[in-house]
Formats: sequence, C-alpha cells, structure tokens
Amino acid sequence: MAQKIKKGDTVQVISGKDKGKRGEVIQVLPKEEKLIVRGINVVKRHQRPTGQMRQGGIIEKEAPLYWSKVMLVCPSCDKATRVGFRVLEDGSKVRYCKKCGEIIDKK
Ligand SMILES: [Zn+2]
Repeated sequence: MAQKIKKGDTVQVISGKDKGKRGEVIQVLPKEEKLIVRGINVVKRHQRPTGQMRQGGIIEKEAPLYWSKVMLVCPSCDKATRVGFRVLEDGSKVRYCKKCGEIIDKK
C-alpha cells in the first residue's frame, strides 16, 4: 500500500481524546502503521534524574497514534480529506485531495 501520510504533513485527528485537533507529522512508523504528531496524544512521563538532567521530574512527549485515527489536511482547501494517487506524465506518483482535486505533493 502506498503511503498516504508523510513526515511534514498536517493532519487532523478524527477519533479519541484529541479529536478535531491538528498538528504536523514529525515521524512516521510504517511497521506499526502509526505516526507521531506534534502536540497530539501527549503523555506525561516521569523522568529519573540522570547525569545530564539532575532535576528529573515530569516530561511531556507525544505518543504514536494509528494512521487510521487521522486524516490529511489539504494545503489547498484546508479540509481534512481522503487522499488519492495520480500518476503524472513524467511517471511520478503524487497524492491529490479528493475534496478539491488539487495535487498535494508540490515539486
Ligand atoms: Zn483540497
């Protein structure tokens, strides 16, 4: 299956506690079919004091969430949308927005 969401994309959460929120994809985990989105699915972790961080304390970190829980936000029409694929004349495969038809992968 071709990858519909890539690092750097903006996505909108469609289910769970962060439903409706948007953020930038900072990491894609293809094997787990998950991704990490900035500011989304943030969990608090207790950090033990180490040599570099003597204070320890609580750190906040984004936990991965499933691809199926987000939709891509189209840069052209600014809506959460399904993604289609189109092959250009030069043979390259690009993603396009199924709502407005605009190509998402600009060169
Ligand atoms: Zn669009």
